[in-house]
Amino acid sequence: MYWTEVLGYPMPKPIGGHPALDFCDTYAGWGGPALPGGEWLADYDRLVVWTVHSGLLPVEDSQPLRTLAERRGAPAARELDAVRRLRSALYAVLLEPADTASFAIVAGEAEQAAARAELVADADGVAFWRIPSTVELDVPRLRVARAAAELLCSPERALVRACPGEECGWLFLDRRGRRRWCSMATCGNRAKVRAFEERQRRG
Ligand SMILES: [Zn+2]
Repeated sequence: MYWTEVLGYPMPKPIGGHPALDFCDTYAGWGGPALPGGEWLADYDRLVVWTVHSGLLPVEDSQPLRTLAERRGAPAARELDAVRRLRSALYAVLLEPADTASFAIVAGEAEQAAARAELVADADGVAFWRIPSTVELDVPRLRVARAAAELLCSPERALVRACPGEECGWLFLDRRGRRRWCSMATCGNRAKVRAFEERQRRG
């Protein structure tokens, strides 16, 4: 894991190569016991800040959402639970395509997002689907679900790998077939140090 500060919070560096993978990388220690500091989306406010950090939400849309969440604490907490459930299901399905229960969770969320999407065009007439920037607590989840569906529909989906680093498990696209670690600066370096110590011990 590897982090930077965004709007006053520590946030994981986007190393995944796709926002849906960076979303999975808001948790570290996949497959092991819960780690102190392994959860980057510790509250709804951090979820909004991460959604800005990932490029899925314009920064000007974040403040009204943060204010709304402050006023509506219980629904915001439920929304955060739903986001984490989507994250676990997405992580599972990306590594295990036969996990149909997880696929059904991701598909349900993606279909909700599709039902809310609107088709808009830029100044050159190039059209794209987007989730409208309404001030509603489910906007971060719908935007993430849309990004997840995009990745699952894309050939890049076959390039998803998980970092084997201890207490990590972050996902990334391995475009050249040579990437093993989330980052050489963290997990890759730790493995190098361990291998060096092992060699020293042996000889
Ligand atoms: Zn790692």
